[in-house]
Amino acid sequence: MCSKGVFTILKLEQKMPSKKDIEEEISYYKKKFPTLGGLLNLFGSIFELQSEYIEKIDVSGFGLSEEEVNETLKKGSPVLALKRGEISATLFKEVLVELIKIVEDKSPKKMEGLNKVLDIDELKEENINLFIEKFERGDDSFFENLSKEKGVNKEALLFIVTHALSPFYEAYAKNLRPKINHHLWGKEFCPICGNRPYITRLRKEDGLKLLSCSVCKTEWWTQRIRCAFCGNVDSETLSIFYPEDDKGHQVELCDKCKKYSKLSNEKELGRNVILRVEDIATIHLDAVAKKRGYLPTAQSPIEMN
Ligand SMILES: [Zn+2]
Ligand SMILES: [Zn+2]
Repeated sequence: MCSKGVFTILKLEQKMPSKKDIEEEISYYKKKFPTLGGLLNLFGSIFELQSEYIEKIDVSGFGLSEEEVNETLKKGSPVLALKRGEISATLFKEVLVELIKIVEDKSPKKMEGLNKVLDIDELKEENINLFIEKFERGDDSFFENLSKEKGVNKEALLFIVTHALSPFYEAYAKNLRPKINHHLWGKEFCPICGNRPYITRLRKEDGLKLLSCSVCKTEWWTQRIRCAFCGNVDSETLSIFYPEDDKGHQVELCDKCKKYSKLSNEKELGRNVILRVEDIATIHLDAVAKKRGYLPTAQSPIEMN
């Protein structure tokens, strides 16, 4: 039936960076900011591994119709609240093993003995889903005990689990994203997985402001002058700062919730960015914002504590 008014659909296309895109972006910033070389090498390897696994994860058995997706969003729930994708125990363990190698090898902080956690019962194939559940529920005492028992750094352990799960979320999100009508959302958390945004960008072609999820990396649209955490639109309590010699990398501050959000202005930078790499290249801005008394909108995937 035809109804009065305009039924608008807003679709956002999102390009997933390939392994090669990531490699090139990492070397671009290594030249630009040589002091960040160590950190860029570490995360370059992590991101490349993740993008390799996103391709390997079989999401063919997981489907939601466009209608199911948008009905869920209309109710104010993220899509994965309706149905979760399965996580293959074999692949998860594989990523975990590879990640541990990378971190032990490339982390600027000394990270030894992390592989001691691999032989625990909770990481046997039949128990892995329970392990993941504990992580997603934020079962701190479980990870506290595990790190004590094995003598490994808890933050490093959580960091590795986060990065091992991320390709699974990304793989499921990639297939669901094209179904989203973004006019139905506009919230401060991810339409796919419900997590908070960790960084934002102004799209080069039209200046549209996009928030990016800290877990599944989905981008969604928001208003230009609006806090990425509490939705505050009062310009009196919102401000922005950027380095004089690098105006394309900005930080938005909200005095209502005392949160900050980094923003890459692609028009100003004159290039399309890869936000997960931007996050590392702008790590100095986090330090400034925190020193001024603001907290990030989400824990950045690159932070270990
Ligand atoms: Zn998400
Ligand atoms: Zn706010």
